[in-house]
Amino acid sequence: MSEFDLVIRGGKLVTSAEVREADLGIVEGKIQMLQCGEPVQARDILDASGLHIFPGLIDSHVHFNEPGRADWEGFETGSGAFAAGGGTLFFDMPLNAHPPTIDGESFDLKRRAAEATSLVDFAFWGGLVPGNVNRMEELAGRGVVGFKAFMSNSGIEDFPCVDDQTLREGMKRAAALGKIVAVHAESEKITSELAQRCLAGGKTSVRDYLNSRPIHAELEAIQCALELAGETKCALHIVHVSCGGGIALIASAQKLGVDVTCETCPHYLVLTEEDMEQIGAVAKCAPPLRPKAAQDSLWEYLKTDQITTIGSDHSPSPPGMKAGDNFFKVWGGVSGIQHTLPLLITEGNVNRGLVLSLLSRVTAHNVAERFCLERKGGIFDFGDADLALVDLNQNTEICSEGLQYRHKHSPYIGRTLTAKVVRTILRGQTVFKDGEIVSKPIGRLVEPSH
Ligand SMILES: [Zn+2]
Repeated sequence: MSEFDLVIRGGKLVTSAEVREADLGIVEGKIQMLQCGEPVQARDILDASGLHIFPGLIDSHVHFNEPGRADWEGFETGSGAFAAGGGTLFFDMPLNAHPPTIDGESFDLKRRAAEATSLVDFAFWGGLVPGNVNRMEELAGRGVVGFKAFMSNSGIEDFPCVDDQTLREGMKRAAALGKIVAVHAESEKITSELAQRCLAGGKTSVRDYLNSRPIHAELEAIQCALELAGETKCALHIVHVSCGGGIALIASAQKLGVDVTCETCPHYLVLTEEDMEQIGAVAKCAPPLRPKAAQDSLWEYLKTDQITTIGSDHSPSPPGMKAGDNFFKVWGGVSGIQHTLPLLITEGNVNRGLVLSLLSRVTAHNVAERFCLERKGGIFDFGDADLALVDLNQNTEICSEGLQYRHKHSPYIGRTLTAKVVRTILRGQTVFKDGEIVSKPIGRLVEPSH
């Protein structure tokens, strides 16, 4: 009989298909499925009775801002907060680091920074910006998961938005390299015109900002991206879709054969535009939070499996950048990576009839499948033992002292969660347990298998 490094007994596994009881053996960081109570030799046994075991979260959308702006977050605190929420693999976006990840050299700098301090595994997006189409190949060669482009102003000077020609050319190049293009879909034309109109009239409130980024600006950009993806045969991933209408457009394009998937974020599922008005800058994001009706339809699409992934779009900044009376000028970005899973369990349970295996799909399985990460994203034989152990019977209130972020702000402070991540395991090793980070940084770069 072989000896396991660790055996986890008595937990309920939340797989992409079902919730069932089974034991797990772990040897050299890999899973071996076991029958309940199967006699085995193990160096360590963990009793998980009463707990649900999810695959470790894969968050395909984070901004940890390193190198260059680690004072905004950085890999150490960002990955720690993620692990505290059950996360084991994140994809860092190319922007808000400086230099942005738009060529091989900047990728190498980022990789070194993450290897030095990331608690959990990581992958990187390359950027697609005007002028770097010829650098896409070197980024692909280094193992980026895909290329991210902005169709509207990104909010940061060193990462300009694409014009139609750059996006078309970039999609052609990505298709040839077998890579996905992800877009921030809001129309630059509509949003910049509306914003200028507000600012010219001295209108700078939260409501003015909301009015400057209407749903139709998002729908128009999604439609444009879908047409270009169809034309270029490029695989497309539309990030942070904020409303059901956006998902409907994507679903129609899928039926026409366009290779497109989509993401939404917990803040669009949990908060509405009224919350943005109440909470202020801490809840500022783009696309902005939406009215309740748009949110309700987003939930319906989620529950019918038409949303591929849920990413946090964690995008923090120092508190000073969130201060000021002009809502157009304060930094836009929500700090949320620590609470994706418990927030969705709470909201999904209480109000929305969400099943747990669906959560396991959108936070792990579907991400691994879309981005071709063979050993990640599920609980299966020979898969990486990346696990989140969750207590579904523990109420906790989110408070600033419990945040692992560099800057302790979150739009969710004061909210009660009905689920708590009690342990996070990365490749068989416990990295977070009972509120504490318990490991040195062991994160490694993960590359797509094709
Ligand atoms: Zn983002």
